[in-house]
Amino acid sequence: MALLDRALVRMLPAVPRAVVRRLSERYIAGPEIADACRVVKELNARGRTATIDVLGEEVTRREEARALVGEYEDVFETIRRQGLDTGVSVKPTGLGLKLDRDLCRENIASIVRCAEERDNFVRIDMEDSTTTSDTLAVYRELRSQGLERVGVVLQARLRRTIEDIHALADLKPSVRICKGIYLEPAEIAYQGFDTIRENFVRAIEELLSAGAYVAVATHDEWVIGRALELLKRHGLKPDEYEFQMLLGVRERLGDELVRDDHRLRIYVPYGRRWYEYSMRRLQENPKIATYIAIDTLGRLRPGGNGRSA
Ligand SMILES: Cc1cc2nc3c(=O)[nH]c(=O)nc-3n(C[C@H](O)[C@H](O)[C@H](O)COP(=O)(O)OP(=O)(O)OC[C@H]3O[C@@H](n4cnc5c(N)ncnc54)[C@H](O)[C@@H]3O)c2cc1C
Repeated sequence: MALLDRALVRMLPAVPRAVVRRLSERYIAGPEIADACRVVKELNARGRTATIDVLGEEVTRREEARALVGEYEDVFETIRRQGLDTGVSVKPTGLGLKLDRDLCRENIASIVRCAEERDNFVRIDMEDSTTTSDTLAVYRELRSQGLERVGVVLQARLRRTIEDIHALADLKPSVRICKGIYLEPAEIAYQGFDTIRENFVRAIEELLSAGAYVAVATHDEWVIGRALELLKRHGLKPDEYEFQMLLGVRERLGDELVRDDHRLRIYVPYGRRWYEYSMRRLQENPKIATYIAIDTLGRLRPGGNGRSA
């Protein structure tokens, strides 16, 4: 990332919310379920499957977590009615992980049961390292309740990930493997760009050897290239793995995967609690300085985007 971009990333929390919102529009379907469904329909028409995420992070009250379960139930009903090809992703802290782990497990269990009734699937996103052990424990408990249509996420950035793969192997889990968005201290996380990439590839290899279903979530061409080599070496057919990307990121790279008959799933977030997710995406955008400059110029221009916001 260029120097100016890195400096701006540090200043992002000071950027007004209205600007953050405009800059992050490409990453979010919109505020309502209908927005997510419209986007998923478009993605399906372009040969992509999806996973819908209802935006919202750590809750402080049990009722908030319960309300989110209700919203996911509505999402499943809408998916069924509209015949969309999409699963859902959930965030454990939004479903009460920090309040009470059992509550969180039961909330996720309700969502997974809803998915099972409709032949659908729930992916449990991975949040920062304070949640890793509890999230993996919840996943194991769900599986021991006989729930199958649920998967988890591991982060190549974390030093523990290879051990986590070994510990999960008996479950033949469905795992989304990604770099990991949360910056963690050096004691528990690799810091170097190349080291994280190498651990990503090692994790894919270990997951394939463990018989896991692997969802490779990245926009990094190098990692995708290595993943394709490994998938080929393991002789997997196109329905035995998938790639995943975020809405609004590197669409042309996605086109190439779809053209070559690989399954590609796009992460489609929607909802009113857009701020935290947007900040994470903007912090990863290597061209953030350019975008802020374009946005600022747009607002200075008569009739520019600032006037209609
Ligand atoms: C489907 C999906 C689900 C995810 N779920 C989780 C999760 O549960 N937990 C978690 O910690 N992390 C999750 N992530 C985020 C992930 O950990 C990384 O932070 C993110 O994918 C960026 O890493 P990368 O592998 O794409 O490599 P990078 O090296 O960061 O990106 C490769 C290239 O992609 C482009 N790019 C990447 N991000 C952006 C952006 N925001 N805007 C514009 N261009 C961009 C740039 O050209 C960049 O050079 C998920 C990612 C995906 C794709």
